[in-house]
Amino acid sequence: MERIVIVGAGQAAQSLAAKLRALGHAGPITLIGEEPVPPYQRPPLSKAYLLGEMERERLYLRPESWYDEQDIALLTGTPVTAIDRAARTVAASGREIPYDRLALTTGAVPRRLPAAIGGDLAGVYTVRTLADVDAMAPEFAAGRRVLIVGGGYIGLEAAAVARKKGLEVTLVEAAPRILARVACTETAAWFAALHRAHGVDLREGVTLERLTGEAGRVTGAALAGGETVTADFVIVGIGVVPDTRLAEAAGLAIDNGIAVGEFCRASDPLIWAAGDCASFPWRGRRVRLESVGNAIDMGEAAAANMLGQSTPYVAKPWFWSDQYDVKLQIAGLSTGYDRVVTRGDPEAGQGAPVSFWYYAGAELLAVDAINDPRAYMVGKRLIEAGKSPHPEAVADTGTELKALL
Ligand code: ADP
Repeated sequence: MERIVIVGAGQAAQSLAAKLRALGHAGPITLIGEEPVPPYQRPPLSKAYLLGEMERERLYLRPESWYDEQDIALLTGTPVTAIDRAARTVAASGREIPYDRLALTTGAVPRRLPAAIGGDLAGVYTVRTLADVDAMAPEFAAGRRVLIVGGGYIGLEAAAVARKKGLEVTLVEAAPRILARVACTETAAWFAALHRAHGVDLREGVTLERLTGEAGRVTGAALAGGETVTADFVIVGIGVVPDTRLAEAAGLAIDNGIAVGEFCRASDPLIWAAGDCASFPWRGRRVRLESVGNAIDMGEAAAANMLGQSTPYVAKPWFWSDQYDVKLQIAGLSTGYDRVVTRGDPEAGQGAPVSFWYYAGAELLAVDAINDPRAYMVGKRLIEAGKSPHPEAVADTGTELKALL
Protein backbone atom coordinates (compact mmCIF):
# COMPACT_ATOMS: atom_id res chain seq x y z
CA MET A 1 0.00 0.00 0.00
CA GLU A 2 2.86 2.37 -0.76
CA ARG A 3 1.92 5.96 -1.53
CA ILE A 4 2.98 7.00 -5.01
CA VAL A 5 3.14 10.66 -5.98
CA ILE A 6 3.59 11.78 -9.58
CA VAL A 7 4.76 15.35 -10.19
CA GLY A 8 3.82 16.81 -13.57
CA ALA A 9 0.54 15.85 -15.25
CA GLY A 10 1.26 15.34 -18.94
CA GLN A 11 1.39 12.33 -21.23
CA ALA A 12 4.12 10.48 -19.30
CA ALA A 13 2.27 10.99 -16.00
CA GLN A 14 -1.00 9.70 -17.41
CA SER A 15 0.70 6.65 -18.88
CA LEU A 16 2.58 5.96 -15.65
CA ALA A 17 -0.50 6.30 -13.43
CA ALA A 18 -2.62 4.08 -15.67
CA LYS A 19 0.09 1.43 -15.74
CA LEU A 20 0.43 1.43 -11.95
CA ARG A 21 -3.24 0.54 -11.62
CA ALA A 22 -3.10 -1.92 -14.53
CA LEU A 23 -0.28 -3.75 -12.77
CA GLY A 24 -2.35 -3.97 -9.62
CA HIS A 25 -0.94 -1.25 -7.42
CA ALA A 26 -3.68 -0.74 -4.83
CA GLY A 27 -2.10 2.03 -2.77
CA PRO A 28 -2.77 5.75 -3.10
CA ILE A 29 -1.73 7.53 -6.30
CA THR A 30 -1.57 11.31 -6.37
CA LEU A 31 -1.03 13.07 -9.68
CA ILE A 32 -0.07 16.73 -9.30
CA GLY A 33 -0.02 19.18 -12.20
CA GLU A 34 0.46 22.89 -12.50
CA GLU A 35 -1.88 23.35 -15.47
CA PRO A 36 -5.59 23.78 -14.71
CA VAL A 37 -6.64 20.83 -16.92
CA PRO A 38 -6.27 17.05 -16.80
CA PRO A 39 -3.42 15.45 -18.80
CA TYR A 40 -3.86 16.09 -22.51
CA GLN A 41 -2.22 15.41 -25.86
CA ARG A 42 0.21 18.11 -26.93
CA PRO A 43 0.91 17.22 -30.58
CA PRO A 44 -2.44 18.54 -31.87
CA LEU A 45 -1.75 21.92 -30.25
CA SER A 46 0.38 23.00 -33.21
CA LYS A 47 -1.83 21.15 -35.71
CA ALA A 48 -5.57 20.39 -35.60
CA TYR A 49 -6.29 22.29 -32.39
CA LEU A 50 -4.56 25.47 -33.57
CA LEU A 51 -6.46 25.14 -36.83
CA GLY A 52 -9.69 25.07 -34.82
CA GLU A 53 -10.56 21.59 -36.05
CA MET A 54 -10.41 19.76 -32.74
CA GLU A 55 -12.43 20.27 -29.62
CA ARG A 56 -10.71 20.86 -26.34
CA GLU A 57 -12.18 17.78 -24.61
CA ARG A 58 -10.82 15.57 -27.37
CA LEU A 59 -7.33 16.62 -26.32
CA TYR A 60 -7.83 15.13 -22.87
CA LEU A 61 -6.18 11.73 -22.58
CA ARG A 62 -8.97 10.54 -20.26
CA PRO A 63 -12.19 12.21 -19.14
CA GLU A 64 -12.02 13.69 -15.67
CA SER A 65 -14.30 10.92 -14.35
CA TRP A 66 -11.60 8.33 -15.17
CA TYR A 67 -9.39 9.59 -12.34
CA ASP A 68 -12.18 8.98 -9.83
CA GLU A 69 -12.91 5.57 -11.30
CA GLN A 70 -9.25 4.64 -10.97
CA ASP A 71 -9.02 6.16 -7.51
CA ILE A 72 -6.26 8.50 -8.63
CA ALA A 73 -6.18 11.85 -6.83
CA LEU A 74 -5.66 14.39 -9.61
CA LEU A 75 -4.58 17.80 -8.33
CA THR A 76 -4.70 20.27 -11.21
CA GLY A 77 -3.68 23.93 -11.00
CA THR A 78 -1.22 22.86 -8.32
CA PRO A 79 2.43 23.77 -8.84
CA VAL A 80 4.85 21.65 -6.82
CA THR A 81 7.46 23.98 -5.37
CA ALA A 82 9.92 21.62 -3.68
CA ILE A 83 10.87 18.02 -3.01
CA ASP A 84 12.13 17.13 0.46
CA ARG A 85 14.00 13.86 -0.09
CA ALA A 86 14.83 13.38 3.58
CA ALA A 87 11.25 13.86 4.77
CA ARG A 88 9.84 12.17 1.61
CA THR A 89 7.38 14.91 0.87
CA VAL A 90 6.61 17.32 -1.93
CA ALA A 91 5.42 20.85 -1.23
CA ALA A 92 2.39 22.09 -3.17
CA SER A 93 -0.14 24.81 -2.42
CA GLY A 94 1.11 25.18 1.13
CA ARG A 95 0.78 21.44 1.85
CA GLU A 96 3.42 18.79 2.40
CA ILE A 97 2.33 15.70 0.51
CA PRO A 98 4.06 12.50 1.66
CA TYR A 99 5.33 9.83 -0.72
CA ASP A 100 6.88 6.41 -0.43
CA ARG A 101 7.85 6.48 -4.10
CA LEU A 102 8.01 9.54 -6.32
CA ALA A 103 7.82 9.95 -10.10
CA LEU A 104 8.94 13.10 -11.88
CA THR A 105 7.24 13.71 -15.22
CA THR A 106 7.77 17.46 -15.39
CA GLY A 107 8.23 17.69 -19.16
CA ALA A 108 10.00 20.55 -20.86
CA VAL A 109 9.64 24.29 -21.05
CA PRO A 110 9.90 26.31 -24.25
CA ARG A 111 12.95 28.47 -24.75
CA ARG A 112 12.00 32.13 -24.97
CA LEU A 113 13.63 35.14 -26.57
CA PRO A 114 15.28 37.29 -23.90
CA ALA A 115 13.31 40.28 -22.65
CA ALA A 116 16.27 42.47 -23.66
CA ILE A 117 15.41 41.80 -27.32
CA GLY A 118 11.65 42.08 -26.95
CA GLY A 119 10.81 38.53 -25.89
CA ASP A 120 8.38 39.79 -23.25
CA LEU A 121 6.31 42.04 -25.53
CA ALA A 122 2.57 41.38 -25.77
CA GLY A 123 1.74 39.44 -28.92
CA VAL A 124 4.73 37.09 -28.58
CA TYR A 125 3.68 33.46 -28.11
CA THR A 126 5.15 30.03 -27.53
CA VAL A 127 3.41 26.76 -28.44
CA ARG A 128 3.61 24.37 -25.52
CA THR A 129 0.44 24.42 -23.45
CA LEU A 130 -3.26 24.51 -24.13
CA ALA A 131 -3.28 27.96 -22.53
CA ASP A 132 -0.56 29.13 -24.96
CA VAL A 133 -2.65 28.10 -27.94
CA ASP A 134 -5.92 29.44 -26.54
CA ALA A 135 -4.18 32.77 -26.01
CA MET A 136 -2.91 33.03 -29.59
CA ALA A 137 -6.00 31.63 -31.34
CA PRO A 138 -7.72 35.04 -31.71
CA GLU A 139 -4.65 36.30 -33.60
CA PHE A 140 -5.20 33.76 -36.38
CA ALA A 141 -7.42 35.86 -38.66
CA ALA A 142 -7.01 35.90 -42.44
CA GLY A 143 -4.84 38.71 -43.75
CA ARG A 144 -2.89 39.26 -40.54
CA ARG A 145 0.87 39.00 -40.53
CA VAL A 146 2.72 36.55 -38.32
CA LEU A 147 6.44 36.28 -37.81
CA ILE A 148 7.58 32.81 -36.80
CA VAL A 149 10.98 32.50 -35.15
CA GLY A 150 12.57 29.06 -35.52
CA GLY A 151 12.35 26.45 -38.26
CA GLY A 152 11.93 23.27 -36.22
CA TYR A 153 8.75 21.20 -36.36
CA ILE A 154 6.90 23.58 -34.04
CA GLY A 155 7.62 26.64 -36.20
CA LEU A 156 6.90 24.79 -39.43
CA GLU A 157 3.62 23.33 -38.19
CA ALA A 158 2.52 26.76 -36.97
CA ALA A 159 3.45 28.21 -40.38
CA ALA A 160 1.32 25.60 -42.15
CA VAL A 161 -1.69 26.36 -39.93
CA ALA A 162 -1.26 30.09 -40.43
CA ARG A 163 -1.14 29.77 -44.24
CA LYS A 164 -4.18 27.49 -44.21
CA LYS A 165 -6.00 30.23 -42.31
CA GLY A 166 -4.94 32.88 -44.81
CA LEU A 167 -2.31 34.73 -42.79
CA GLU A 168 0.85 36.25 -44.24
CA VAL A 169 3.76 34.26 -42.85
CA THR A 170 7.44 35.11 -42.50
CA LEU A 171 9.62 32.47 -40.87
CA VAL A 172 13.19 33.19 -39.80
CA GLU A 173 15.62 30.41 -39.03
CA ALA A 174 18.99 31.40 -37.57
CA ALA A 175 20.83 28.29 -38.76
CA PRO A 176 21.82 27.92 -42.43
CA ARG A 177 18.79 25.68 -42.91
CA ILE A 178 15.58 24.61 -41.20
CA LEU A 179 15.36 21.35 -39.20
CA ALA A 180 19.11 21.29 -38.59
CA ARG A 181 18.75 19.70 -35.15
CA VAL A 182 16.55 16.81 -36.22
CA ALA A 183 16.73 16.12 -39.94
CA CYS A 184 19.07 15.83 -42.94
CA THR A 185 19.47 18.49 -45.64
CA GLU A 186 17.28 16.41 -47.99
CA THR A 187 14.29 16.45 -45.64
CA ALA A 188 14.88 20.11 -44.81
CA ALA A 189 15.04 21.08 -48.48
CA TRP A 190 11.84 19.14 -49.19
CA PHE A 191 9.96 20.98 -46.45
CA ALA A 192 11.48 24.36 -47.32
CA ALA A 193 10.17 23.94 -50.87
CA LEU A 194 6.76 22.87 -49.54
CA HIS A 195 6.44 26.00 -47.41
CA ARG A 196 7.63 28.30 -50.20
CA ALA A 197 5.09 26.70 -52.56
CA HIS A 198 2.43 27.57 -49.98
CA GLY A 199 3.55 31.19 -49.88
CA VAL A 200 5.64 31.27 -46.72
CA ASP A 201 8.43 33.85 -46.82
CA LEU A 202 11.05 31.46 -45.45
CA ARG A 203 14.39 32.97 -44.49
CA GLU A 204 17.20 30.60 -43.54
CA GLY A 205 20.52 31.72 -42.08
CA VAL A 206 18.93 34.92 -40.87
CA THR A 207 19.61 36.24 -37.39
CA LEU A 208 16.90 38.01 -35.52
CA GLU A 209 18.43 41.03 -33.78
CA ARG A 210 15.40 42.01 -31.80
CA LEU A 211 11.65 42.23 -31.81
CA THR A 212 10.32 45.76 -32.16
CA GLY A 213 7.33 47.05 -30.26
CA GLU A 214 5.05 49.97 -29.61
CA ALA A 215 3.34 50.61 -26.28
CA GLY A 216 4.40 47.19 -25.06
CA ARG A 217 3.01 45.28 -28.05
CA VAL A 218 5.13 43.63 -30.74
CA THR A 219 5.12 45.28 -34.19
CA GLY A 220 7.79 43.28 -35.98
CA ALA A 221 11.48 42.53 -35.93
CA ALA A 222 14.86 43.87 -36.88
CA LEU A 223 16.99 41.31 -38.67
CA ALA A 224 20.77 41.25 -38.97
CA GLY A 225 21.90 43.38 -41.89
CA GLY A 226 19.40 46.14 -41.20
CA GLU A 227 16.29 44.57 -42.69
CA THR A 228 12.99 44.86 -40.85
CA VAL A 229 9.84 42.73 -40.88
CA THR A 230 6.44 43.94 -39.74
CA ALA A 231 4.16 41.56 -37.88
CA ASP A 232 0.88 41.65 -35.99
CA PHE A 233 2.11 38.88 -33.74
CA VAL A 234 5.07 36.53 -33.27
CA ILE A 235 5.36 32.81 -32.58
CA VAL A 236 8.61 31.61 -31.05
CA GLY A 237 9.53 27.98 -31.75
CA ILE A 238 13.18 27.80 -30.81
CA GLY A 239 13.18 24.56 -28.90
CA VAL A 240 12.57 23.41 -25.35
CA VAL A 241 14.66 22.66 -22.31
CA PRO A 242 13.89 19.80 -19.93
CA ASP A 243 12.15 21.01 -16.80
CA THR A 244 14.67 19.92 -14.19
CA ARG A 245 14.13 22.78 -11.75
CA LEU A 246 12.63 20.72 -8.91
CA ALA A 247 15.04 17.83 -9.44
CA GLU A 248 18.04 20.12 -9.48
CA ALA A 249 16.96 21.95 -6.34
CA ALA A 250 16.53 18.55 -4.67
CA GLY A 251 20.09 17.62 -5.60
CA LEU A 252 19.32 14.86 -8.10
CA ALA A 253 21.83 14.11 -10.86
CA ILE A 254 21.13 16.12 -14.00
CA ASP A 255 22.60 15.47 -17.43
CA ASN A 256 20.57 17.03 -20.24
CA GLY A 257 17.49 16.26 -18.16
CA ILE A 258 16.97 14.27 -14.99
CA ALA A 259 19.55 11.51 -15.38
CA VAL A 260 18.02 8.06 -14.95
CA GLY A 261 19.40 4.56 -15.36
CA GLU A 262 18.04 1.74 -17.48
CA PHE A 263 15.17 1.21 -15.01
CA CYS A 264 14.10 4.89 -15.17
CA ARG A 265 15.38 5.45 -11.65
CA ALA A 266 16.99 8.79 -10.78
CA SER A 267 19.97 9.21 -8.47
CA ASP A 268 17.67 8.72 -5.44
CA PRO A 269 16.45 5.12 -4.98
CA LEU A 270 12.87 6.28 -4.29
CA ILE A 271 12.57 8.60 -7.31
CA TRP A 272 11.91 7.74 -10.96
CA ALA A 273 11.56 10.02 -13.99
CA ALA A 274 10.00 9.63 -17.45
CA GLY A 275 9.19 11.59 -20.59
CA ASP A 276 10.63 14.84 -21.98
CA CYS A 277 12.31 15.71 -18.66
CA ALA A 278 14.47 12.59 -18.42
CA SER A 279 17.69 11.45 -20.08
CA PHE A 280 18.43 7.74 -20.18
CA PRO A 281 21.01 5.28 -21.49
CA TRP A 282 20.37 4.15 -25.06
CA ARG A 283 22.73 2.16 -27.27
CA GLY A 284 25.82 3.16 -25.36
CA ARG A 285 25.03 6.82 -24.89
CA ARG A 286 22.64 9.05 -22.98
CA VAL A 287 19.66 10.51 -24.84
CA ARG A 288 16.57 12.54 -24.11
CA LEU A 289 13.57 12.29 -26.41
CA GLU A 290 10.82 14.84 -26.93
CA SER A 291 8.02 12.66 -28.18
CA VAL A 292 4.70 11.16 -27.27
CA GLY A 293 5.92 7.63 -27.95
CA ASN A 294 8.71 8.08 -25.45
CA ALA A 295 6.41 9.61 -22.85
CA ILE A 296 4.00 6.67 -23.10
CA ASP A 297 6.52 3.85 -23.14
CA MET A 298 8.88 5.33 -20.59
CA GLY A 299 5.98 6.16 -18.27
CA GLU A 300 4.91 2.51 -18.43
CA ALA A 301 8.44 1.23 -17.88
CA ALA A 302 8.87 3.54 -14.89
CA ALA A 303 5.58 2.30 -13.42
CA ALA A 304 6.64 -1.33 -13.67
CA ASN A 305 9.98 -0.59 -12.05
CA MET A 306 8.38 1.47 -9.30
CA LEU A 307 6.41 -1.65 -8.40
CA GLY A 308 9.55 -3.71 -8.04
CA GLN A 309 10.02 -5.16 -11.52
CA SER A 310 13.37 -4.86 -13.25
CA THR A 311 12.27 -3.96 -16.75
CA PRO A 312 14.94 -2.05 -18.64
CA TYR A 313 13.50 0.74 -20.73
CA VAL A 314 14.38 0.11 -24.37
CA ALA A 315 13.29 3.15 -26.37
CA LYS A 316 11.94 2.69 -29.90
CA PRO A 317 12.03 6.27 -31.13
CA TRP A 318 9.33 7.46 -33.53
CA PHE A 319 7.95 10.89 -34.34
CA TRP A 320 5.60 12.52 -36.80
CA SER A 321 4.66 15.91 -38.18
CA ASP A 322 1.67 17.14 -40.20
CA GLN A 323 2.12 20.17 -42.43
CA TYR A 324 -0.54 21.20 -44.98
CA ASP A 325 -1.71 17.85 -46.39
CA VAL A 326 1.67 16.22 -45.93
CA LYS A 327 2.39 13.59 -43.33
CA LEU A 328 5.97 13.02 -42.22
CA GLN A 329 6.71 9.92 -40.14
CA ILE A 330 10.10 9.32 -38.59
CA ALA A 331 11.43 6.02 -37.28
CA GLY A 332 14.65 5.80 -35.31
CA LEU A 333 17.15 8.45 -34.23
CA SER A 334 19.32 9.92 -36.96
CA THR A 335 22.09 11.30 -34.70
CA GLY A 336 25.50 10.21 -35.97
CA TYR A 337 24.56 9.45 -39.60
CA ASP A 338 27.15 9.83 -42.33
CA ARG A 339 25.00 9.10 -45.38
CA VAL A 340 21.43 9.63 -46.54
CA VAL A 341 19.80 7.42 -49.17
CA THR A 342 16.80 8.77 -51.06
CA ARG A 343 13.95 6.50 -52.12
CA GLY A 344 11.49 8.07 -54.55
CA ASP A 345 11.66 11.38 -56.37
CA PRO A 346 11.83 14.41 -54.09
CA GLU A 347 10.86 16.63 -57.03
CA ALA A 348 7.71 14.65 -57.82
CA GLY A 349 5.40 16.97 -55.92
CA GLN A 350 3.75 17.27 -52.54
CA GLY A 351 1.58 14.18 -52.71
CA ALA A 352 4.24 11.77 -53.96
CA PRO A 353 5.84 9.32 -51.54
CA VAL A 354 9.50 9.90 -50.80
CA SER A 355 11.69 8.69 -48.00
CA PHE A 356 15.16 9.46 -46.69
CA TRP A 357 17.14 6.67 -45.04
CA TYR A 358 19.94 7.59 -42.63
CA TYR A 359 22.99 5.34 -42.37
CA ALA A 360 26.12 5.29 -40.24
CA GLY A 361 28.41 3.14 -42.33
CA ALA A 362 26.32 0.10 -43.23
CA GLU A 363 23.96 0.55 -40.29
CA LEU A 364 20.46 1.93 -40.83
CA LEU A 365 19.69 4.48 -38.09
CA ALA A 366 16.49 6.25 -39.08
CA VAL A 367 13.95 6.87 -41.82
CA ASP A 368 12.04 10.05 -42.66
CA ALA A 369 9.00 8.92 -44.65
CA ILE A 370 6.97 11.60 -46.41
CA ASN A 371 3.52 10.50 -47.59
CA ASP A 372 4.81 6.96 -47.35
CA PRO A 373 3.41 5.02 -44.40
CA ARG A 374 4.77 1.76 -45.80
CA ALA A 375 8.35 3.05 -45.90
CA TYR A 376 7.86 4.17 -42.31
CA MET A 377 6.53 0.79 -41.17
CA VAL A 378 9.24 -1.16 -42.95
CA GLY A 379 11.96 1.21 -41.74
CA LYS A 380 10.69 1.01 -38.18
CA ARG A 381 10.65 -2.79 -38.19
CA LEU A 382 14.14 -2.94 -39.67
CA ILE A 383 15.59 -0.47 -37.16
CA GLU A 384 13.98 -2.15 -34.17
CA ALA A 385 15.27 -5.53 -35.34
CA GLY A 386 18.74 -4.07 -35.87
CA LYS A 387 18.65 -4.97 -39.58
CA SER A 388 20.18 -2.79 -42.28
CA PRO A 389 19.20 -3.31 -45.90
CA HIS A 390 21.75 -2.52 -48.56
CA PRO A 391 21.48 1.17 -49.50
CA GLU A 392 21.29 0.31 -53.19
CA ALA A 393 18.26 -1.88 -52.60
CA VAL A 394 16.60 0.92 -50.63
CA ALA A 395 17.26 3.51 -53.32
CA ASP A 396 15.88 1.29 -56.09
CA THR A 397 12.11 1.81 -56.15
CA GLY A 398 12.00 -1.38 -58.23
CA THR A 399 12.76 -3.24 -54.99
CA GLU A 400 9.54 -3.73 -53.07
CA LEU A 401 9.65 -2.32 -49.57
CA LYS A 402 8.51 -5.61 -48.09
CA ALA A 403 11.44 -7.34 -49.74
CA LEU A 404 13.78 -5.24 -47.59
CA LEU A 405 12.54 -7.07 -44.53
P1 ADP B 1 11.03 22.94 -31.73
O1 ADP B 1 10.66 21.64 -31.07
O2 ADP B 1 10.60 24.14 -30.95
O3 ADP B 1 10.63 23.01 -33.15
P2 ADP B 1 13.90 22.60 -32.49
O4 ADP B 1 15.05 22.72 -31.57
O5 ADP B 1 13.70 21.34 -33.24
O6 ADP B 1 12.61 22.96 -31.59
O7 ADP B 1 13.94 23.76 -33.56
C1 ADP B 1 14.13 25.11 -33.19
C2 ADP B 1 14.77 25.85 -34.34
O8 ADP B 1 14.89 27.22 -33.97
C3 ADP B 1 16.17 25.38 -34.70
O9 ADP B 1 16.19 25.11 -36.08
C4 ADP B 1 17.07 26.55 -34.32
O10 ADP B 1 18.16 26.70 -35.21
C5 ADP B 1 16.12 27.72 -34.43
N1 ADP B 1 16.48 28.88 -33.60
C6 ADP B 1 16.94 28.87 -32.33
N2 ADP B 1 17.12 30.12 -31.89
C7 ADP B 1 16.74 30.96 -32.88
C8 ADP B 1 16.67 32.38 -33.04
N3 ADP B 1 17.01 33.20 -32.05
N4 ADP B 1 16.22 32.86 -34.22
C9 ADP B 1 15.86 32.02 -35.22
N5 ADP B 1 15.91 30.69 -35.12
C10 ADP B 1 16.32 30.15 -33.98
